[in-house]
Amino acid sequence: METYDVVVVGAGNGGLTASTALARKGLKVLLLERHNIPGGCATSFCRGRFEFEVALHQLSGVGTPESPGPLRMLLSQLGVLEDLELVEVKDLYHVIGPGDFRLSLKPDRLQVIAAFQDKFPKEKEGIERFFELSYEYASQMLSAFYFKDPDPSREKFPILYHYAFKPAQEVLDELFRDPLLKCAISLYWSFLGLPPSRLSFAYLAMLFFTYIELKPFHIKGGSQALSNVLINRFLSQGGTARFSCGVDKILINQGRVEGVVTEHGDHINTRYVVSNVSPVATYTSLIAPEYVPETVFHEMRGRTLSPSAFTMFIGFDREARELGLTGSMTFFPNHTDITDKNLLEMQRLDMENPFMAMSCYDVADPGFSPPGTCQASVVTLKYGEPWLRVPPAQYHQMKFRCAESMLRRVEAAFPGVRGHIEEIEVATPLTHMRYLGHPNGAIYGFEQYTKDSMFFQPGRTSPIQGLSFASGWIGDCGFQPTLQAGVTAAKSIIREFEGK
Ligand SMILES: Cc1cc2nc3c(=O)[nH]c(=O)nc-3n(C[C@H](O)[C@H](O)[C@H](O)COP(=O)(O)OP(=O)(O)OC[C@H]3O[C@@H](n4cnc5c(N)ncnc54)[C@H](O)[C@@H]3O)c2cc1C
Repeated sequence: METYDVVVVGAGNGGLTASTALARKGLKVLLLERHNIPGGCATSFCRGRFEFEVALHQLSGVGTPESPGPLRMLLSQLGVLEDLELVEVKDLYHVIGPGDFRLSLKPDRLQVIAAFQDKFPKEKEGIERFFELSYEYASQMLSAFYFKDPDPSREKFPILYHYAFKPAQEVLDELFRDPLLKCAISLYWSFLGLPPSRLSFAYLAMLFFTYIELKPFHIKGGSQALSNVLINRFLSQGGTARFSCGVDKILINQGRVEGVVTEHGDHINTRYVVSNVSPVATYTSLIAPEYVPETVFHEMRGRTLSPSAFTMFIGFDREARELGLTGSMTFFPNHTDITDKNLLEMQRLDMENPFMAMSCYDVADPGFSPPGTCQASVVTLKYGEPWLRVPPAQYHQMKFRCAESMLRRVEAAFPGVRGHIEEIEVATPLTHMRYLGHPNGAIYGFEQYTKDSMFFQPGRTSPIQGLSFASGWIGDCGFQPTLQAGVTAAKSIIREFEGK
């Protein structure tokens, strides 16, 4: 029987960085992935002459070489930075709608404030205050947690303590009157899957701060390029990876991991498993129920699953500028209501005039698609559960209907684009469920309600000894946090091996 120091289950971001960090320290590591390519969400797929990006819209935490952000430093530590071409995106986001409302933001604090003030001159002071508050919040948050203040207190960090648990809507209602402004300034909620009525203000503040100060980035070759350099690094350090080889069982003996069994029936000995798979699937499918302490289920019962996504991947037979696509990231809000209306819409299967976000990668990186073409991905968030109830015979019809109503919105914003579609593919929540193995196809892990926000997230460790987690399910979701989560999980295993 084969024996490894550590088995990593899943080659998503967290699994890839955990494996690479462990192999770098000379540990004997086996990475097992159910799909036939590495990356999880961070992958691409081909249709015709297009290679479509699956997930990445804006990479956070990168910063410039002169002023590096945490992600640039992490990629450098892992020895993969040199192998990547990170492309700085020059626009923050654009807004089209509702109605004829249009807004364009650049990742520059003064420009963002000026652009909002230009559209909403009566709310000048509130806009100024919103960004002041977001920056103060981010700076106190970084001092307290990132730079680990040894003695944080309300006196030292008053903004952090006051705003950490406030829903974003409360702050927006305090500062602004115009519903359109409240809507346009909070559109980043969709990057976390919870509307401002439920999302902690903390996330909105941190997203603005991060994307403005460290700039949004894109990766040349898409997120698959990142996954490829990570797996190559892992293999070159002596790691072993198997694809199309999922884990069927994690074996436990006397409260401790003792091995795994693959879907092909191979038994592998190990005392450490890092799961890049959701804790829901890990504890309910991979581990026999008698080995899972009741406290685990008790904790999970208090959480809810984030939405999944309905995405159209479109390849056009014209360059972006010929089609009028000048924004890298465009939001299409369908109304100005920032209350639970968005939540209810995400729970509904059908969509008429849906909220959408569109990324056109060729704007920042003109060589992204073949010459003379460009591609866009258009996403709307949808909970997976209603899709599970669609009878198989009606699935394609439903997919077609939803895609059709999204296409109508794209065509209304950019007249004539429809006539230039060369390839189109559609992913539903069921597609995400199939490819990621996540319950209900949830793309952002557990929902991050204020009560489940960054301060109360489930730990990366488990009551089962030797089992730890590295994914968007045990901390914040997104590329930067999950890449970091893998390294953090690796570090504590390395400490145990070094006997510290
Ligand atoms: C449409 C979309 C848009 C997004 N946009 C952005 C964005 O713009 N910016 C951003 O920062 N983030 C974005 N995200 C979120 C980001 O992609 C994810 O948070 C992150 O990639 C999740 O990484 P992870 O480590 O949790 O692993 P995942 O990507 O969830 O991968 C888990 C892996 O485990 C494998 N697996 C499952 N079960 C088994 C098993 N039994 N055995 C072996 N392997 C198994 C799966 O096949 C998969 O490869 C987006 C996500 C989606 C889907």
